Amino acid sequence: MTLVKSTCPRCAVVEVPISEAVLRVCSMEGPSVCLIRCPGCHQRFEVDADEAMVAMLLAVGVEVSVWQREPATERASQVTSTLTSEEVERFCELLIAEPDIANRIASSPW
Ligand SMILES: [Zn+2]
Repeated sequence: MTLVKSTCPRCAVVEVPISEAVLRVCSMEGPSVCLIRCPGCHQRFEVDADEAMVAMLLAVGVEVSVWQREPATERASQVTSTLTSEEVERFCELLIAEPDIANRIASSPW
């Protein structure tokens, strides 16, 4: 198995199996980073990957993930719909249809 040397913030220099590294390449112009899971402490850390490092990682078959510059916007657009008033009403009906709801909450051990 291919090992790459990296520096864990906790364990100092470690040899990481390539399967524990993911190269994150920005789809726009932007910095690439290598996301590594440390074999010592199992914590994830990131290291900046310059062109030479990217080329080296690709050559040894690193897993690549492409990211957008604005992941927050991308995540927001994945929400397919907002809560509608019909859904809220339906929820209220379900609550009302459950006559013991107050008792159940009161008798809950939490
Ligand atoms: Zn570590």
